[in-house]
Amino acid sequence: MTLDTIQARIDTAARGAGRDPATVHLIAVSKVQPLGRVEAVLTQGHRIFGENKVQEAEGKWPDLQARFPGVALHLVGPLQSNKTKPAAALFDAIHSVDREKIARRLATHAQELGRAPEIFLQVNTGEEPQKAGALPSEIDALTAACRAMDLPVRGLMCLPPAEEEAALHFALLAKLAERNGFTGLSMGMSGDFETAIALGATHVRVGSAIFGARVPTPAG
Ligand SMILES: *Cc1c(COP(=O)(O)O)cnc(C)c1O
Repeated sequence: MTLDTIQARIDTAARGAGRDPATVHLIAVSKVQPLGRVEAVLTQGHRIFGENKVQEAEGKWPDLQARFPGVALHLVGPLQSNKTKPAAALFDAIHSVDREKIARRLATHAQELGRAPEIFLQVNTGEEPQKAGALPSEIDALTAACRAMDLPVRGLMCLPPAEEEAALHFALLAKLAERNGFTGLSMGMSGDFETAIALGATHVRVGSAIFGARVPTPAG
C-alpha cells in the first residue's frame, strides 16, 4: 500500500469519528526495512518515523537525517537502562517508558544534553508476563513520578495481545489517559489503526502496511 493510501484511510477514520485528521500523527515504522523503501517514503515528503531498536536506529538515521532535514524519530520498542543516553540523544519521542528507573535516567540526560524527547508511558494492558509496559494499576503512580521529574510526558502507549480484541485495550488505554490528564494516545498498527483512531489515537504506528512485509530474520 502506498503512503497516500494509508494517509487517506487515516483521514477517513478520523472524520468518521468526528475528529480533525490533523490530530492523528502517522509514525512510519521503518525497522528492518531495506534502505531503499525508507528513502522512497522520505522522498514522498514523510517526516515522522519509528524504530524499535536504539542500535539499529543509530546505524541508519544520522545519515538519512543529514540528507532529509526535519525528520522526527520515535522509539517504539523497549528501552534498556544501558541505552537511555544514546536514545535521549537521537530520538524526538520515546514510547516505551515503563518504570521509574528509566524515567529518572531520562531526566538526568535531559539536564546533560539540554534536550528531552517527548515521553509516552507504555502500558501492558493485557498484563502479559513477557511483555514490556507498566501494569494499568501502576500508571497513576508512574505518571506522578515522571511529572515530578519535569519530564515532558505526552501520553500513553499500548501494544495489545495478538489474539485479543484490540478495541478493548485501546479503550482501556484511553480511560487511563483521561484519568491522568493526557491527550496523547500511541496505539494502532497496520492491522488496527482505524479502530485505534475511532477510540482516540493521536499517534498510530504503522510499519508493514506502508513499507511492505518485513524481511524475516532468524530471530523472527
Ligand atoms: C513493528 C512495530 C509496529 C508496526 O507494526 P506493523 O504491524 O508492521 O504496522 C508498531 N509498534 C511497535 C511497538 C512495533 O514494534
